[in-house]
Amino acid sequence: MYALIDGNNFYVSCERVFRPALNHTPVVVLSNNDGCAISRSNEAKALGVAMGEPFFKIADLQQKAGLVALSANFALYGDMSQRMMTVAAGLGPEQEIYSIDESFVSLAGVQGDLLVRARRMRERILQWTGLPTCVGIGETKTLAKLANHIAKTAERKPGVYPSHLAQVCHLGYLSPQARQALYQASDVGEIWGVGRRIGSRLKEAKVNTVWDFLQLEASIVRQNFGVVLERTWRELHGVPCIALEHAPASKQEIACTRSFGQGVTTLEPLIQAVGEFASRAGEKLRRQHSCASQVLVFIRTSPFREGPRYSQSVVIPLRRPSANTAHLVSAATAGLQLIYKPGYQFAKAGVMLLDLSADDVHQGELDLEETQDAAQSVQTPRLMHALDTLNQRYGRGTLGMASTGLTEQSRLWSMRQERLTPQYTTSWQDLPIARA
Ligand SMILES: [Mg+2]
Repeated sequence: MYALIDGNNFYVSCERVFRPALNHTPVVVLSNNDGCAISRSNEAKALGVAMGEPFFKIADLQQKAGLVALSANFALYGDMSQRMMTVAAGLGPEQEIYSIDESFVSLAGVQGDLLVRARRMRERILQWTGLPTCVGIGETKTLAKLANHIAKTAERKPGVYPSHLAQVCHLGYLSPQARQALYQASDVGEIWGVGRRIGSRLKEAKVNTVWDFLQLEASIVRQNFGVVLERTWRELHGVPCIALEHAPASKQEIACTRSFGQGVTTLEPLIQAVGEFASRAGEKLRRQHSCASQVLVFIRTSPFREGPRYSQSVVIPLRRPSANTAHLVSAATAGLQLIYKPGYQFAKAGVMLLDLSADDVHQGELDLEETQDAAQSVQTPRLMHALDTLNQRYGRGTLGMASTGLTEQSRLWSMRQERLTPQYTTSWQDLPIARA
């Protein structure tokens, strides 16, 4: 069994923790340079604001409907994410962080009533961090993801699914008839790994719901759609076959994280690990033709082992959106050095690339002090190839090269963030004041 814990409208929810006046108000969080909506409250969704919608198209809703638009505050989201993940990790023996607001937890060997445990963990996240989440539980990751969709939708759109499945949905507790009804009510496009293109091809073949998809023969799925979708089909039938490495990519963030076999206490192996994660995330980033604007790095001790505990993350903004491994590794390494503390047995570390944009979108930005860098960027693909190869082969050698020229501070003033909220949890000056 797997659980998927997912933050509801995550960036907006992080903002609301510190500005409760925004509850019940339509709120959107805007991407890098206040470009387009990357997180929407339910009220904003109800207004018809689409994911990725450019801000200028919805700006009039501020006047007309009281829409509040905020600049993305990744320092806040990264920190809140790490708090949420730390609580979620207690649900089972192994946690796989999939994106900034989603993690799978393996429930193998967990005793007791899983539904009760999941509800309690959800309550704890809400109480300790202020973040609302939904939990889906199923026999495979794909089923956990579907269960999560059901839990979310049952809460947000009453009537689509039975209301007792809202917030926490455990498919394993349902009768075959009840599961069939759920699958018949679920659009085939909601299946994890079925993108828009495959979704419309399936619908042309009259496969409209999850249930329709399950009725196909495995061989038909493989012949027409390939082995990847066949694997998805098997997963929906309850046969686990997706390791996290092969998990369908999240379009909004790219995560690369790992638990260490043995506790790591010194900085050097952590630098190696984090450099490797950043490189691998960079490869994934280039494969989907994206650039990242922010790099999150986290380290933590085991929630289960004895000894002092420590869990910390930091978000390093890049000078400009980049898919250059050198930039990513350098940011991740600098972040690690900020949060590393000696005297702890680290059990897990990871890198996440955030605030992604298409790599063909170039910003018309005046390039005063970076002419040399710009000239070099012509050679970036070759350089990237060399870096990836080196990184695979030598690890640290690449890092030595990449660790120069990090100027994350100068980015803060050069980026347009007119609607930025304070860094409530990561900056002393910005600590919120509570009045009783
Ligand atoms: Mg979410």
